[in-house]
Amino acid sequence: MTPLEFDARHLWHPYTNVTEPGPMHLIDQAEGVWLTRADGTRMIDAMSSWWCAIHGHRHPAIVRAMHQQLDWMPHVMFGGLTHQPAIDLGERLVAMLPPGLDRIFYSDSGSVAVEVALEMAVQVQRARGHGARSEFVTIRGGYHGDTWKAMSVCDPVTGMHSLFSGALSIQHFLPRPTLRPEENWPEDPAQNGLAALEALLRAKADRIAALIVEPVVQGAGGMRFYHPAWLRGAKALCEAHGVLVIFDEIATGFGRTGQMFAMDHAGVTPDILCLGKALTGGHISFAATVASGAVAKSIGQSAAGVFMHGPTYMANPLACAAGAASLSLLAEGAWQRQVRQIEAQLRAELAPARALPQVREVRVMGAIGVIEMAHPVDPRIAHARAPRSGVWLRPFGRNIYCMPPFTIAPDDLSRVSAEMNALAGGAT
Ligand SMILES: *Cc1c(COP(=O)(O)O)cnc(C)c1O
Repeated sequence: MTPLEFDARHLWHPYTNVTEPGPMHLIDQAEGVWLTRADGTRMIDAMSSWWCAIHGHRHPAIVRAMHQQLDWMPHVMFGGLTHQPAIDLGERLVAMLPPGLDRIFYSDSGSVAVEVALEMAVQVQRARGHGARSEFVTIRGGYHGDTWKAMSVCDPVTGMHSLFSGALSIQHFLPRPTLRPEENWPEDPAQNGLAALEALLRAKADRIAALIVEPVVQGAGGMRFYHPAWLRGAKALCEAHGVLVIFDEIATGFGRTGQMFAMDHAGVTPDILCLGKALTGGHISFAATVASGAVAKSIGQSAAGVFMHGPTYMANPLACAAGAASLSLLAEGAWQRQVRQIEAQLRAELAPARALPQVREVRVMGAIGVIEMAHPVDPRIAHARAPRSGVWLRPFGRNIYCMPPFTIAPDDLSRVSAEMNALAGGAT
């Protein structure tokens, strides 16, 4: 059996048919923006390996930090013990987050970070004497992970709730905010899309623990951008009704949208924040849920006292070391210029796709470029072309999109744009 035959017969891949997985690329090296197949073919990773590898793959500073940590202590439990990598990473996070958002819970993956946030919200409500507040409100088009409770707040259509109908908890879904970041913001709730949230909170706030949204950019639910002012209005309404606000910045955090965090576009601080994906620069799985002091205090002073969640590999030192090294690179500040340049170049280079009749919309924000088609895109075409085009893209739904490493060179980004335009134009 060849390695690829073994893979096809025995290994599950994400969102892929296990009995008919289709062709697969065997990758044995990743460096900078490049993925190299076992046969030597090279492809630009225009996905940053699911949006994580913001500094490029195998960044020397991150690899060095991980090597050093590996030699000292790959792992110890976090119950009753602590270590310098967890503290180093925590110091860097606290320094870059808004004041007051400074109680950090480390976990292994984004979905777990979301579970932790949802659990915190319910526990805070109980601690504050609101035992009936255990439901969640969100907006359509969202994505928050694939674990059970996280899945219940994903968009019911793109999150395929139909597969689990009857088995997921029912949450409250509001229409997506329709105003785009570049549009004028009308203060009238009937025009700015906040009326629906206001009406829901008026009627049902006594059952709702928290609002959870991806600020400004909805990622895996459809790659849509919305007006940051919606977040300001939503936060004020939630506060008035005793509902907590959770921002899921697992996709948007660490510079991707042109600000360090997408919430910075709005100047709004949530009660609880979820981070993941680019936290380690794409070098190892890791995530964090950051709570406000008030949230921490409510839980700490409740009858239960403790927060009942503790991943076995919580604060894994190797991952903390990678995270601290990645945040040091961000602190050097080059990402701002890089993301601005990527944004300008994608705006110019993807614009021609607007003229194609089968294209519904072209949109760019920070280091995110999207060509939304009028019809669903067959990802197998991009997959098969990748070794020839030298660009690795993985379209989903109606979207042909890129989220390249911030370090991508202009010439390489032009190849990505050209391949996106070719796919939009119907290349096979
Ligand atoms: C990817 C993602 C998650 C889930 O993270 P995993 O590490 O895959 O569990 C949650 N929320 C958002 C916004 C994401 O993009």
